[in-house]
Amino acid sequence: MIKRTIIQVAVPAPLYTTFDYLLPASAQTEPAAGCRVKVPFGRRSMIGVVTGSSDTSSIDPRRLKKLQRVLDDSPVIPAEVLDLLMWTARYYQHPPGEVISTALPALLRQGRAAEIRGSLVWRLRGESIDAEALLQRAPKQLQLYKVLRQHGGELDEERLRALEHGTGANWRGTMNALVHKGAVEQHEQHCLPAAVAEAEAGPDLNAEQFAVVGAIADDLAHYQAHLLYGITGSGKTEVYITLAEKVLAAGRQVLVLAPEISLTPQLTDRFRRRLGIRIAALHSGLNDSQRLCAWCAAANGDARLLIGTRSAIFTPMPELGLIIVDEEHDGSYKQQDNLRYNARDLALVRARHKDIPVVLGSATPALESLYNAWRGQYRLHHLTQRAVADKPPRIELVDLCRQPMDEGLSAKLQQHIGAHLQQGGQVLLFLNRRGFSPVLMCHACGWTQSCRRCDAHMTYHRNKRLLRCHHCGAESPLPPACPDCGGEELISLGAGTERIEQALAAKYPQHMVERIDRDSTRRKGALQSKLENAQSGAAHILVGTQMLAKGHDFPNVTLVGILDTDQGLYSGDFRAAEHLAQLITQVAGRAGRARRTGEVLIQTHHPDHPLLQTLLHQGYEGFAHVALAEREQAGFPPYRHLALLRCDAIRAEAGIEFMHAARALLAQAGTNGVEIFGPVPAPMEKRAGRYRTQLMLQSSERKPLHRLIQPWLLALQQLKSAGRVRWSLDIDPYDTY
Ligand code: ADP
Ligand code: ZN
Ligand code: ZN
Repeated sequence: MIKRTIIQVAVPAPLYTTFDYLLPASAQTEPAAGCRVKVPFGRRSMIGVVTGSSDTSSIDPRRLKKLQRVLDDSPVIPAEVLDLLMWTARYYQHPPGEVISTALPALLRQGRAAEIRGSLVWRLRGESIDAEALLQRAPKQLQLYKVLRQHGGELDEERLRALEHGTGANWRGTMNALVHKGAVEQHEQHCLPAAVAEAEAGPDLNAEQFAVVGAIADDLAHYQAHLLYGITGSGKTEVYITLAEKVLAAGRQVLVLAPEISLTPQLTDRFRRRLGIRIAALHSGLNDSQRLCAWCAAANGDARLLIGTRSAIFTPMPELGLIIVDEEHDGSYKQQDNLRYNARDLALVRARHKDIPVVLGSATPALESLYNAWRGQYRLHHLTQRAVADKPPRIELVDLCRQPMDEGLSAKLQQHIGAHLQQGGQVLLFLNRRGFSPVLMCHACGWTQSCRRCDAHMTYHRNKRLLRCHHCGAESPLPPACPDCGGEELISLGAGTERIEQALAAKYPQHMVERIDRDSTRRKGALQSKLENAQSGAAHILVGTQMLAKGHDFPNVTLVGILDTDQGLYSGDFRAAEHLAQLITQVAGRAGRARRTGEVLIQTHHPDHPLLQTLLHQGYEGFAHVALAEREQAGFPPYRHLALLRCDAIRAEAGIEFMHAARALLAQAGTNGVEIFGPVPAPMEKRAGRYRTQLMLQSSERKPLHRLIQPWLLALQQLKSAGRVRWSLDIDPYDTY
């Protein structure tokens, strides 16, 4: 057999292997692992990433194809990140090529060079020229010149592309002519916002903060997981910033993960202002070239600190010295489709591989994280005092049973709202339900509108005069009368944020009400301006969904009302209680962040529910002990490990057939130590016209679970019934919906 260098390539295809290619004889050197290559794949060619090389292949060399082209001289993915990606592929049992695709910015996937291209900016020349005279025989140039003048004398590529109909599709040529004539200057703008001129000084750390920083900074040179458990407003962010300063001063880079930073630009701003350096941010609000830029800046070391949402965990940072995961309990760290990874968990893996510390921070740590801290896997640090306000808020349950309700508000809550407004306080009302009302019902016959494609009612949106399904997005116009009996009295049952907003606006006409939810913030810039009104205190009453509960700082809020907790108390999901406790604690933490003591009112029909009682009297930590004991008894994480096979199909029978075949395969393989539950219908069986089923695998050890799953996945792909369903496997599922 002839020996030749075989290059292993991860190709973005749904297959659980890498592929072998031959290095063409013309190639001078072998491409290193982490370089992109163009390879023939099926009838097309694709861009893949080299994962290794070998002298042998399990495939007959005569059948191997040749690499077409090597795109990079040096790896775009350094060995450290490639290892993390391959680890991710194995752990989450996902095709390696698709894992690598998830990690790369779109432009790199498409073959663009991994370099920072600043965006071009054109500016009118400062000295006044007589443009009309200079350009009189070039009407297009004159027009473009005027467009620039209308826009303050300066436009960048992106804005010009957006203006294309006003400037002509060929504005580049026209612009070049203007530059040539000296009417306009061209500049290249760095894609990262400039650093502030001077770093702002922070407050002196209080004794607790000082102790935590000391304990963590004691050893920054090795792997150690830290859990920073600090109540809302206790100054966790100040701890992150101080630690970041130390790591940066030692010449290393810092990675900060945060949930949804496009919703909370304050966090990024705060790091920027305090550190006085150019930092890169990666989040969903970026376009492809901004994303590439931030990625490259972190990868080539230009940006010393990167702040980003979950996928930022895969960004190369050659001198990474610290990872911080803010709000580590947040569900947005878990991706809920394709590659179902959890970035918080991968942060721990990456820190271990790289032998650096990782800090997980939260006011309401995930039960898994507390469990790991309590058994000594993580070092636990507490911040128990608020940094500014001296007293924690007063929390009270409002029993709704047999109480008259006025548009979802009890008399007691209304009294308090009135009193706080009168004293100049700001009121925040939280309700996790958008729209006007969740159900529209005929008063004569009881008809309600269900979604045709889901097991769900359609929500009534009064502003838009329509019914909308919150699960599949289906819409239908508001019926003028009951479609069943013709009755004209349609009543709306229950309240959503839209209804609460209208009720409050009517009750308190002299106060500004601001509603913050997905519907009210669709328009670009709407969220920003609403948040500004909330922060400045211009809006006196804030009504919103969990969008409001996340990381915002409203210094003037003195009263928080949680309008409905009953839904969360009786959900079938194993994490529901944890989520509710986190939500209540987080929302309550929004009260009294300024110097005033805050009040929190929680409306419920079940004031004696053990979850609420424990939370109220023993705090989140007391709740966590009780909830963990329940998890242990029921055999849920962190005591047992889960994998969830989900499947959906247009015909219910197709799904059931596939699931039974899947279960039979497991039985054949022998499930030693792994328990199998199901198949059962998903909690919402029908969604968007498809029937959903699930099969749960549970095991107290990871090894047997993974050993069972690997060959199973390959066998599942071969099943005849697999062609009629969509299926996915979720390792460590976040929920069972
Ligand atoms: P967390 O991240 O725990 O919610 P922050 O770090 O945002 O808390 O701090 C809450 C508020 O207290 C912020 O306005 C912050 O500037 C302020 N703060 C934090 N630490 C101190 C301190 N040591 N002295 C004075 N103010 C502080
Ligand atoms: Zn009717
Ligand atoms: Zn629907």
